[in-house]
Amino acid sequence: MSTHTLSTRLGLSLPSPLTPFRPDWQGANTVSMWIKRDDLIHPVVSGNKWRKLSEQLQRYMQHQSSTQRHIISFGGGFSNHLHALGWCCWQLDIRFTAIVRGNYHATPTPMLKDLAQWRANIQYVTKAEYSRRHDQDYLNALQNKAPDALIIPEGGSQASALTGVRQLLTEIQQPFDTIIAPVASGATMAGIISGLTANQSALGIAVLNGVGYLENLVAQFLPDFSKRHQQNETLPAQQWQILHQFHHGGYAKRTPALIALCEESLQAHQLAVEPVYSGKVFYAVKQLLGEGYFAPGENIVILHTGGLQGNRSDPASDE
Ligand SMILES: *Cc1c(COP(=O)(O)O)cnc(C)c1O
Repeated sequence: MSTHTLSTRLGLSLPSPLTPFRPDWQGANTVSMWIKRDDLIHPVVSGNKWRKLSEQLQRYMQHQSSTQRHIISFGGGFSNHLHALGWCCWQLDIRFTAIVRGNYHATPTPMLKDLAQWRANIQYVTKAEYSRRHDQDYLNALQNKAPDALIIPEGGSQASALTGVRQLLTEIQQPFDTIIAPVASGATMAGIISGLTANQSALGIAVLNGVGYLENLVAQFLPDFSKRHQQNETLPAQQWQILHQFHHGGYAKRTPALIALCEESLQAHQLAVEPVYSGKVFYAVKQLLGEGYFAPGENIVILHTGGLQGNRSDPASDE
C-alpha cells in the first residue's frame, strides 16, 4: 500500500493547500507570505501528526499481516499524536495500545474519551514509568510481551518521520526563502531542514522553554549529525535557527496577548489557530514583521501544523 492509497483510504485531503496570507500587520506589506494549510488535511489526523506517521503506517500495513497488526505508542492525556494515531488505527483495523502518562481514569480528557470510543486499549502509567519510554530495557520488555507490535515513540518523533515531513515541502510549488514552523520534539523541524534547497532556510518557533535543548533535539534527527559529531566537525553555516522568545512561559502556557492573537486570527483572517503550537507561531510572525526581522521582498511560508482538536481542553492542567 502506498502512502497515497493509505491517505485515500483514511479520507485525507492531500496535498494540502498553500494560501496567500496578507494580514494588515505592521511590516506585512514588505514581504510575501503563504500558509501551508496542513491543518486542513483532516479534522482528527491533522497537520504534522499525519506527516510524521505516514511512512511508518504505510510500511507496517505493507509488512504485517492484517490479523497481527498492533501499534503501541506514548503520550500525555492531551496528546494530539495519540489522538491522530488512535483514529488511524481504528479506521485501519489495527489494535492500538496507548500508554498514557498519569491516571485520568476518573476524569478522562476529550482526547482520551475519543480513544476509548475508538476501542484503544488505554494504559495509565505513573510519571516514573512514563519517564522510561525511551529506555531500551523498557522497550525490549514491552516488545517481548507483544512481539508483533510496532512501537512508535512519543509524538511519532523518530527518524522515519522526516520522510513524511519532507513530503510537505515537495507539495509547495511557490518558490520561497524561509519556512516557519513550531518546535516541540524537533522532528517536524528536522524533516523540514532535511528537505531544504541550498538557498532556503527554516525558522523554528520554540513552543516550550528549551534554549539549546531544542537545537540538540533537532540536530539529533538530522541524518549526518552523528557522523559529524563523532568526527568533531563543526556544522556548516546554519540553514536553520530556533527563536526562543515566543513560548509564553512554557509548554501549553498562555498569556492574554497570545489568546488575543488567536482570537484575532479567527476573526480578522478566518484562520483558526490554537494556543499550544500554531498560535505561538503566528504571534511570532506578527511580532517579527513589526520589528523588521525579514528582508524586504522575502518569500515566507508559514506551516500551519494543525492540532485544532486540542482546542477542546486546556493541556496546561497536565502538570
Ligand atoms: C505535536 C505538534 C507539534 C510539534 O511538532 P514536533 O515535531 O514535536 O516539534 C506542532 N504542532 C502541532 C499542531 C502538534 O500537534
